[in-house]
Amino acid sequence: MRKIIITSWIIFGLFFVFTAISCNQNNNSKKNDGVINVVSTTGMINDIVVNIAGDLVSSKALMGPGVDPHLYRASARDVGLLSNADIVFYNGLHLEGKMSEVFEKMINQGIKTVPVGEAVDKSLLVSPEYYQGNYDPHIWFNINLWLNCVERVKDSFVNFDPENKEVYESNHKEYLAKLTELNEYVLAQANSVPKGKRVLVTAHDAFNYFGIGYGFEVIGLQGISTDTEASTSDVQRITSIIVERKIPAIFIESSVSPKYIEAVKASVKSKGFDVKLGGLLYSDALGNPNTPEGTYVGMFKHNIDTIVGALNKGSK
Ligand SMILES: [Zn+2]
Repeated sequence: MRKIIITSWIIFGLFFVFTAISCNQNNNSKKNDGVINVVSTTGMINDIVVNIAGDLVSSKALMGPGVDPHLYRASARDVGLLSNADIVFYNGLHLEGKMSEVFEKMINQGIKTVPVGEAVDKSLLVSPEYYQGNYDPHIWFNINLWLNCVERVKDSFVNFDPENKEVYESNHKEYLAKLTELNEYVLAQANSVPKGKRVLVTAHDAFNYFGIGYGFEVIGLQGISTDTEASTSDVQRITSIIVERKIPAIFIESSVSPKYIEAVKASVKSKGFDVKLGGLLYSDALGNPNTPEGTYVGMFKHNIDTIVGALNKGSK
């Protein structure tokens, strides 16, 4: 009898050890399948990951085209993806306003969780009065600011996987060259619009850093987050500005309902002025995969070309 009990304990003990080893392998999936599993929240961040780490990682963005990160809640499937990740990248600065508990959970599970926005020097961030002391999170719209986030992603990979340091550094260099070229293009395009006409009216305040970087006055109908609805007085406020200053075009955004911008257009018309819809801008999400707008560079080019095209057309 005693022998049976001892044997049972040994079997139980071995079972426990094997279970512990296999769980440990699941939790530490790094390179189990030869790749590092990376999950990013937005497409803009995922674009950095793809460019810096390429084939060395399996990467996924939680938020696809047209998805609004301010309102996004993680599904059970997302939590599963995040729990299996080796590294999680997110924007931070409260962009993913409904996900803070999920990020905390990942940190408690020991997953490397990196808020890329923290790489930007606080003195370069803006904190408009109406945003209750928080920083504006739309940092990807100023390429010079975004480069800090790109570097943070590169450093995270070098730190996590030092064996491939040279690959990450060389990819970083290449991506940097692409983004520098993009920055020059955006500046040249922006400068083609007469200074007095550089006014950008959009659905929500996503373009403050764009305005600072490229010399546009930015007027958003909703605040920095889409969490609050635009009011009738917001529509009237923007209507008066457009009519008074004869602003030729206003823009809808890919991740925000067009209803408010359409309401502004109708309201302007009732005052006897015709403002054009200048086209669709990608604000808080990239375009469809396998289209130029599905990449950060393509998205940015689309935006600046759309803005400049509509404003220049109206001013000639
Ligand atoms: Zn936004």
